[in-house]
Amino acid sequence: MRNRLRWRAVCITRKAFCLINLLVFACAFTIKAEETSSNILCRPELAPSRRSELADKLRAITGWRDLGFDQNGALRPGRAQSSGGSPTARDLLGAAVTGKNVLILEDASNRSDVVFCRVNPGRWTKDAAQRPPAYVILIDFADFSRITGDRAALAAFNVGWGLLHEIDHVVHDSVDPQRIGEAGECEDLINRMRRECGLAERVEYYFTLVPGTTASAFMTRLVRLAFEQRTPEQNKKKKRYWLVWDASLVGGFSEDNKIAAVR
Ligand SMILES: [Zn+2]
Repeated sequence: MRNRLRWRAVCITRKAFCLINLLVFACAFTIKAEETSSNILCRPELAPSRRSELADKLRAITGWRDLGFDQNGALRPGRAQSSGGSPTARDLLGAAVTGKNVLILEDASNRSDVVFCRVNPGRWTKDAAQRPPAYVILIDFADFSRITGDRAALAAFNVGWGLLHEIDHVVHDSVDPQRIGEAGECEDLINRMRRECGLAERVEYYFTLVPGTTASAFMTRLVRLAFEQRTPEQNKKKKRYWLVWDASLVGGFSEDNKIAAVR
């Protein structure tokens, strides 16, 4: 849409990876990675409360009632039969747990360069040639706490959904859209999971300024993100729901980022 303001993507695409973002793993962490059969691992610094928050959201989405993190910080789906939840989410998470890549979960709360979540490639400090590819998923828990909006949209956008989005980038090598007005390849799969959970779907990948908000008058930059759900009572009509947050706190608001979003 002409003159419509566009802002930074909620996460970067894998194509945007660059060497400068490579992170280094400590030797101690390497040992722990080898001791577990799960390829999704927490950094030791990820607090128990954050692990619980992630596990709670993932249990609700996958229907895996026993899902949790073990004492080594490894994500375990658990042995219990699934109850409800999304089969597609179970497939994705199961593929990541047993897949060829190691995924490291890191608390990136209040980091200005992380807008909700992001995934970066990692690099082993020793014997890199003998080790699997590694990725670091940065999660800004504080950003998610700053969202307000419709209940139906809030249920469809939390740390669990954000984590699955980043995992899909790694597992399926999926990309985010270059143009506004599209959800993109990665979110299309996440939206299938939302449908399976009976939740609203994300309409667009890019968030936009709330109408009436000027780009220069105040420090506060209210932005919004649309979700839609088709309700049986309304037949084929969709109902729209919104999330709203202050981009000056969450991040992703600058002229540079606006340019980056349309590349
Ligand atoms: Zn993405």
